[in-house]
Amino acid sequence: MKKKWIAAALAAVMVLNTGCRGNETPAAEPEQTGETPEPTEAPADQETAETVTEEEEPADEAVTGGGSPWIDSDLKENISDGMALSLKDDFHLYQNYDWLKDAQFPDGYAQYGAFTQVALDTEAKATALLQDDTLTGHDAELVRSLYNAILDWDARDAAGVSPIQASVDDIRSLSSIEEISEFICDPERSYGVPCFMSFYNSTNINDSTSYILMIGGEGFLLGDAAEYSQRTEMGDLYYEAQLYLAQEMLPKVGYTKDEAKAMFDSVIDLETKLAEVSLTTADMMSPDYYDKINNIYKPDEAWALAPAFPGEKLINAFGFGKAKEIMVPEPEWVKRLNEIYTDDNLEQLKNYMVVKYVESMSPFLDSSSYDVYVNMSNMLSGSEGRVSDESMAFNLVRSALTTPMDRAYLERYDATEAKKRITEICKNVAAAYRDILAEEEWLSEETRAAAIEKLDNLKINAVYPDKWEDYSKMDLTGLSYFECNKVISDFSTKKNAELTNGKVDKEIWGFDILEANAYYSAVDNSINIIVGLLGEPFYYDGMSDEELMGGIGMVIGHEISHAFDTSGAQFDKDGNYAFWWTEEDYMAFMERAQKLIDHYNTLTVWEGQNVLGDNVQTEAIADIGGMKAMLTIAKGKDSFDYDKFFTSYAHIWAFIRTRETELQRIMQDPHPLPYMRTNVTVQQYQEFYDTYDIKEGDGMYLAPEERVSVW
Ligand SMILES: [Zn+2]
Repeated sequence: MKKKWIAAALAAVMVLNTGCRGNETPAAEPEQTGETPEPTEAPADQETAETVTEEEEPADEAVTGGGSPWIDSDLKENISDGMALSLKDDFHLYQNYDWLKDAQFPDGYAQYGAFTQVALDTEAKATALLQDDTLTGHDAELVRSLYNAILDWDARDAAGVSPIQASVDDIRSLSSIEEISEFICDPERSYGVPCFMSFYNSTNINDSTSYILMIGGEGFLLGDAAEYSQRTEMGDLYYEAQLYLAQEMLPKVGYTKDEAKAMFDSVIDLETKLAEVSLTTADMMSPDYYDKINNIYKPDEAWALAPAFPGEKLINAFGFGKAKEIMVPEPEWVKRLNEIYTDDNLEQLKNYMVVKYVESMSPFLDSSSYDVYVNMSNMLSGSEGRVSDESMAFNLVRSALTTPMDRAYLERYDATEAKKRITEICKNVAAAYRDILAEEEWLSEETRAAAIEKLDNLKINAVYPDKWEDYSKMDLTGLSYFECNKVISDFSTKKNAELTNGKVDKEIWGFDILEANAYYSAVDNSINIIVGLLGEPFYYDGMSDEELMGGIGMVIGHEISHAFDTSGAQFDKDGNYAFWWTEEDYMAFMERAQKLIDHYNTLTVWEGQNVLGDNVQTEAIADIGGMKAMLTIAKGKDSFDYDKFFTSYAHIWAFIRTRETELQRIMQDPHPLPYMRTNVTVQQYQEFYDTYDIKEGDGMYLAPEERVSVW
């Protein structure tokens, strides 16, 4: 269960339904396994536009050399013609060199790899569907209405920024803290406007059969609370990109460029006060994260944390007022909001609302606003050009109308056979994992039994769900794009509000199955191997056993391992946050994990930039555990071709990225960098050394006592 996928600021900016509404999280909150190529947020970090009228990026003088023990072969600038290749020194580079050398970023992309290729295949199929006017049925009608509204640039340009002007003027006219309170507590007036506190029903980690209302912040312009106390290169990148967006967008709604700069800096100042008491990205990736956030309050107690802020009135206005309990992940943040929410800070609070509102709406307005958004996106991710409008529109439809899009897709592209086959493969991998657990020498019988029980209780969600959220009452006929967004936002807020104090329906998955990704969800102990990942090189007709195991097999093994990583291990067989270990075994487990963290800490990406071992612990455990599951299966096969297996595995991690994106991932992503996912994973296993005759002195060599497999 991944805390939050803390991707680029785009995430925050691109969320379709910004503002205070309670629609952030659908049913469950599946882990984003993030094998994903692009941050899932949406079309977001792909688009772009022409040149940005800013000075050159600092990336100019950026260092990319000096990686140890391998160069960062995810970076195009590190791949040159005729460079020396050695399988024994850098397995990933050797196996992927030809691909890396020829690979080019598609327009608007900041990274490109096998996952992207699969995603683009899905996109092409979905786009054909969206453009087919002969399709009938409610799902097809909904997605087509939205798709056409997004692409209706004539209408969007005619409207310009008028859809947001009234709200901006309304905020501008607020003259007291009482008036701000009235404004944010009126869902019609405040549509899309950030109102300081987010709220939504999410699966209760203490009782995964029920929902609990969560309240918290709205994310930071600089992407990570840590950037406000110790600004890094990453924070500078966010600052420049977001400031650019503010200075281009605010003049469209009546401010000067200078006013925009002053307003932006005042928001940064306000956020600095909130960031001091907020969880950082590193906190969110730490194993004690759940312990920190597991603060359950009675409503009266929760609102007593912030008597000045109209929290209770706010949730009432949006239909969440009946909540019997409230989870407050960051109580100190709520107290700080209370301190800030005064007449003395009136202008600053208004600036916060205007700047974040206008920035977040930029992709949904006219073409010139969208251009600005695309430029910002490029600054942040290092991409160039922009994705096609059709691609942008598909990705927006997918994120706004996930269920109807998925259903329409499945109706057109049958996946019944794949569902059977993937279910079967998942069962086989789980069986291998059972053998691993049965043989772990460091586990007591008591913990072993509990671990096996958890594994036996693992829910396999293969390809697509059998039950869906109900969209039958939604109608988008004849609406403009901006109006569609409002209807969709209101719909999902209402749907989420209806979950208040309710029971979780685990048959509804609640996330996008067209994404090229896979998930483990700790709150229902499920692996989710979805239709969007079923393409070459992961899964295709005619693949050998070795290729299958190096592809989708590794992904499945990885997902199952998440049940036993340093986060997943804190959840029991039913998805409850509950301890099922003996103290001694848990200590031993954490020691093993620490060894892996320490190992990752020794790896250098480029001069002066090492890996943040703590950040990648859960995903590194899952990679290495997944490989152990595959090697366990391989042992039972006659004449298994290990070379073919390891090579297939290396191919799924062939990736190119811009330096900006690589840096973002180092700082904010729980996943190790792609080239390390190949190299570090394979070098933990003797089979790899035997297959390629790797010896001491080779770049791929790791002494037996330094090898770490947590499982
Ligand atoms: Zn993962």
